[in-house]
Amino acid sequence: MSSRTDFERAAALDAVDPLARFRERFVCDQPELIYLDGNSLGMLPKGSRDWLLSEIDDGWGARLVRAWPERWIELPFRIGSKVAELIGAEPEEVGLCDSTTVNLFKLTVAALRARPDRTRIVTDDSNFPSDLYALLSAARTTSGCELRVVETSSPDVDVSKHIETFLDDGTALLALSHTAFKSGRIHDMRRLTDSAHRVGALTLWDLSHSVGAVPTDLAGCDADLAVGCTYKYLHGGPGAPAFLFVRKDLHASLLNPIWGWFGDRDPFEFGLEYRPAPGIRRFTVGTPPILSMVPVEVGVDLVLEAGMGAIRNKSILLTSFLVELWENGLVGLGVRLGSPRLASERGSHVAFSHPEGLRICKALIELENVVPDFRFPDNVRFGLSPLATSFQDVLEGVVRLERVISGRAYERVSSLRPKVT
Ligand SMILES: *Cc1c(COP(=O)(O)O)cnc(C)c1O
Repeated sequence: MSSRTDFERAAALDAVDPLARFRERFVCDQPELIYLDGNSLGMLPKGSRDWLLSEIDDGWGARLVRAWPERWIELPFRIGSKVAELIGAEPEEVGLCDSTTVNLFKLTVAALRARPDRTRIVTDDSNFPSDLYALLSAARTTSGCELRVVETSSPDVDVSKHIETFLDDGTALLALSHTAFKSGRIHDMRRLTDSAHRVGALTLWDLSHSVGAVPTDLAGCDADLAVGCTYKYLHGGPGAPAFLFVRKDLHASLLNPIWGWFGDRDPFEFGLEYRPAPGIRRFTVGTPPILSMVPVEVGVDLVLEAGMGAIRNKSILLTSFLVELWENGLVGLGVRLGSPRLASERGSHVAFSHPEGLRICKALIELENVVPDFRFPDNVRFGLSPLATSFQDVLEGVVRLERVISGRAYERVSSLRPKVT
């Protein structure tokens, strides 16, 4: 159980945290709320509201359609070039458009068509279900292609090595989540990209649970393609558009399977025939959702200001503190750790499993004002967003979790699964 020294340690860790000052840049006016779900929806930066209102009043209200050339048309690529800095890419290799799933589908079909003599996509079972659906549907729309989902759930397997055994000269694409959504386990991007390249396959990385939390070096790994989400650790807001990355030298040889005017060389020429734009623009499709995109820049700017190095350092300290609290108390209450023990192998959330996981999660939200989330069948995820979470938040979350389990408070909530967990 948590002790007085835990409280002293949490306070001491906060006192020396170089990123502690970022917390007040977010809207958090509910002192009793412990928000541990920044890996699902990042908190609202205070600056976003003003930017959004200004875009509505000064842009849409005052300038109307003139605002397109004046302030909007380049926005997907201006923000893209900033995201590029966070993921180790060149500014002209990243753009914002569509959702992560749609971008994954577009790039997968593009990759399959660029490798017409190969018929297989390889992924693994730690990938996000929506990614699996998109990969399978991409395989089905490309004649003769199949999806191979490698099982990696057994704790004893060397995951990289196991995946490598499925790569051969029939493999067109290796598509993986860099940081797994459930366990938080990080794949070895450098090694797996090398292995895919050795057999002549392309790679597609989903960075949704990495960007803004776990640094990546796409250029250094010679990664081919990537997609990712902006509303988690980038604080872009609900439904904010995703980003996609295509390595520069692949721009000319890959074709977006969805042809739209924003992907054309000159949308306002209104030519009757589609001519793919040079560069990253060809992977976009239609009119960008400006009002959903504006807040992304505020979040990305905060992450750039803090720096990915400092963010990763704090993330490791936060998750290590949580794992330590688990070891000293939660283990005795029947809670199992669903994330890697080694900090270097995990992202910024920690999954706990317990047979009563769903009701425990609901009790935390309904009775204790702690917001984690639940992932089927028995995982409660504690997402520790490095810019918005304090060490004292982590401790307080654990104290209340211990209270819910030891006092059996979860027996007071229903076991019906809500529509959104
Ligand atoms: C959050 C997340 C997504 C989100 O996909 P959308 O299409 O933007 O809803 C996709 N993939 C992974 C791995 C994610 O974590």
